[in-house]
Amino acid sequence: MHTINADLHCHSVVSDGTLSPEALASRAHANGVSIWSLTDHDELGGQERAKKAAEDLGMQYISGVEISVTWSSQTVHIVGLGIDYKHPELIAGLYQTRNGRANRAKAMSAQLDLVGIKNAYEGALQFVGNPELISRTHFARFLVESGVCKDTDEVFANYLIEGKPGYVGHQWADLTDAVTWIRDAGGLAVIAHPGRYRFTSLQLDELYSQFKDLGGRGIEVVTGSHTPDEYKTFAKVAQQYGFLASRGSDFHDPHESHADLGTLPNLQKLLVKKNQKLRHLNY
Ligand code: AMP
Ligand code: MN
Ligand code: MN
Ligand code: MN
Repeated sequence: MHTINADLHCHSVVSDGTLSPEALASRAHANGVSIWSLTDHDELGGQERAKKAAEDLGMQYISGVEISVTWSSQTVHIVGLGIDYKHPELIAGLYQTRNGRANRAKAMSAQLDLVGIKNAYEGALQFVGNPELISRTHFARFLVESGVCKDTDEVFANYLIEGKPGYVGHQWADLTDAVTWIRDAGGLAVIAHPGRYRFTSLQLDELYSQFKDLGGRGIEVVTGSHTPDEYKTFAKVAQQYGFLASRGSDFHDPHESHADLGTLPNLQKLLVKKNQKLRHLNY
């Protein structure tokens, strides 16, 4: 069977990845990816470079973004694929979404100070590629570099998450706004890594239904933070709600990330094996 290696989710230095858009394109290409998307958090600054690098290598480029959303008091990520990255309302909406990050980072630093971790804001800034996009990942890298934790997994088990030092709640974009910006910019909205949310099944049903009513089209089935069981769970969700299934590594860095670009199980193979008639986003 002819299969297509699509990777529709990853991050560059323009958000919280460590590679340039060009280095990511080369890595994706070397790993056999033929359809690729760079989906930086709340930022479109890497799109032009990613598109050029991908097309120079003969890959099909799908423009992308991952929007931070607050829904039912939790953070949910919505990927937008095939967006016009010059669309004014999308650009303005993302600017607004990024806007509170610096103050949040200072508040996170103040919290870490209370448990004896000094100058975390300045430390995190050393890892930041885009001053408008300081994220928890940059703090995590600082906590590893300064010897507080052995790796970023240890950081996200003990710090920067709800109930642990360094966590500061934040109000991101509304689900309605995020899906509307994506749709108005000509893109498809996709629910990112659904296995990571801590909602009840009733809340999940509500999220999927609302997302669908707003015109949301897809859901990630195969992604770096899902287990093989979760591939099955979310393939069923896609069928049940009529969503297109997507595959993306969510790659950030060669050492930190559990899944490299283009190396996760193939969506088509997975679905054919399960004899599921599931439409997917990948071609
Ligand atoms: P922020 O947008 O500043 O809240 O940062 C979110 C980013 O932190 C995510 O995109 C991931 O890159 C990273 N992150 C969050 N939780 C984890 C986790 N459990 N393990 C590894 N990285 C995580
Ligand atoms: Mn990230
Ligand atoms: Mn995400
Ligand atoms: Mn991501």
